[in-house]
Amino acid sequence: MRPSVLALTRYLVLGLAVALSSALAAQDLPIVVIVMDDLGNNQTVGKRALDLQGDLTYAILPNTPSAKVLARYAHANGKEVIVHAPMASERQLDPGPGALSDQLGHSEFLATVRGNIKAIPYARGLNNHMGSALTPIPEFMGLLMAVVAENDLYFIDSRTSAKTVAANVAEHFQIKNLSRDVFLDHDRSLPAIDAAFQRLLTLARRNGIAVGTAHPYPTTLKYLETVLPKLQANEQVQLVSGSQAIRARYGSETNETKSSLAAKHAGAVSYVSNAAAADALPENVNR
Ligand SMILES: [Zn+2]
Repeated sequence: MRPSVLALTRYLVLGLAVALSSALAAQDLPIVVIVMDDLGNNQTVGKRALDLQGDLTYAILPNTPSAKVLARYAHANGKEVIVHAPMASERQLDPGPGALSDQLGHSEFLATVRGNIKAIPYARGLNNHMGSALTPIPEFMGLLMAVVAENDLYFIDSRTSAKTVAANVAEHFQIKNLSRDVFLDHDRSLPAIDAAFQRLLTLARRNGIAVGTAHPYPTTLKYLETVLPKLQANEQVQLVSGSQAIRARYGSETNETKSSLAAKHAGAVSYVSNAAAADALPENVNR
């Protein structure tokens, strides 16, 4: 009996060592973030996306029919949710309900952002839906970031315009943020999605972290259902949620950063009140 017990012990110890070394190694693997945008209009499609394996980040459109159901389903299944804030596009596309644009007065803009955030339970962050016309305007990105700070969210710049200043303004207000590196399904064909996904992996390996944006198209879901279960084993990268990536980028929150959080809020609010004061005069004069 004794030799077999010894053999078993050795086997267990070896197994433990292997498990420990792979667990330690996982922390050091390049980080991949996948943001699944545009959820909320279709519950079946949304649930299929939420059932994908791994820590994806789900951006839900406020005031869409299935927004709340999907946010709750995500939360119940340990999936991270963010607000997919609809913003004006240069191509005059309709961003949907709760759309933000520079045509709104400042107080209406702030109220709309607050309404968007309130519409998505459990949201940890916010990213922009469309927004090529709005994200280049520092004034409105300042207003946006004030509300992002107010709700203690992180921000992801979807980078729908090369002229976006959203991430810079977030940085200015010390709001933890990420920027989209790759659109995974700009071209929805499987070979194009695969090529974009490989580019995402290359960037993650080169920069330590890379952010991809996907949409719940049938081909995208099919592709991700195939590759995600074996992603870490096959590619030696780790798929983590937006908030985990934020922690990796900025380190854990210390007391010092918590106290600077208060300063950040104060800075954001004073920025807003200055901007609001500038805006108030012409509106009052004209009406
Ligand atoms: Zn979108």
